[in-house]
Amino acid sequence: MWAISTMNILFSNHSLTNYRKSLSKSLAFVPTMGALHQGHLSLVEEAKKSCENVIVSIFVNPLQFNNPDDLNKYPRMIQKDLELLKHAGVNAVFLPSYETIYPPNQEFNIQLSNNSIESVFEGHFRPGHFNGVIQVLHRFFSLISPHEVYFGQKDLQQCMVVKILIDEYFKEIKFNIVETKRENSGLAMSSRNMRLTNDEINVANQIYQSLLLLKNEENYSQLACELEIKRLSILGLKTEYLNYVNLPNMEITSIKNGNQAIVYAGFLGNIRLIDNLLL
Ligand code: AMP
Repeated sequence: MWAISTMNILFSNHSLTNYRKSLSKSLAFVPTMGALHQGHLSLVEEAKKSCENVIVSIFVNPLQFNNPDDLNKYPRMIQKDLELLKHAGVNAVFLPSYETIYPPNQEFNIQLSNNSIESVFEGHFRPGHFNGVIQVLHRFFSLISPHEVYFGQKDLQQCMVVKILIDEYFKEIKFNIVETKRENSGLAMSSRNMRLTNDEINVANQIYQSLLLLKNEENYSQLACELEIKRLSILGLKTEYLNYVNLPNMEITSIKNGNQAIVYAGFLGNIRLIDNLLL
């Protein structure tokens, strides 16, 4: 274990367990894959409001990447991340190796019984993605035993999956969703944005404009979504999906009823971007 001033940096399960045992007050957990930005830090900020201690993990989880190129090119900048977390007043950072999370002699096959949303939208376009998310989070929650966990609305479907994981396996953990942090242009902050050129950022900004336009539509019609998909495609965005959905089940809808969202995913070149707005 290292300590940067008052921030503990934990590499092993052993140091994590010792750290956990040393705490008498509440602990919030914020899982991340690093390359941190203000969106991640807003989760830390919210976590600090309700818990005395905040632990952040940085682990690029290979199991949740269906595309090896995306995994290889995922930005990694650990020193900068640690500085940001220290500045944000985080108490501990968990930096496990692959073997620490997935010991070779153990099997990882946690399943949700309520699993219909695992195969739609993100699950459809990224086969196996949510299974990877479930394995890593089950492992983290078991090792860390946090009182609360914080996730970003940016990954809305992930939030719905985590809610089910908590309901089925970790009822004692309080689940929190933090709203999406955006650039002034409206572009949702993402670690992948740093791979975009300035011209591409101008195009990516249009995703938020489409979501806003659809949010203000009188009727939630698929035709309106199709028109926006067409507009974005002329700009160079290859949309995978743009739909009105009911929450929490992520079923496509055309009827306004309150607990709903518009969800987007698409490619700009080889960079995949997602966003959503609650309705
Ligand atoms: P990631 O490092 O991409 O796995 O994200 C770690 C956490 O940060 C997840 O709960 C994300 O939903 C959340 N997050 C990512 N981007 C944003 C953002 N722009 N605003 C708020 N939360 C975010």
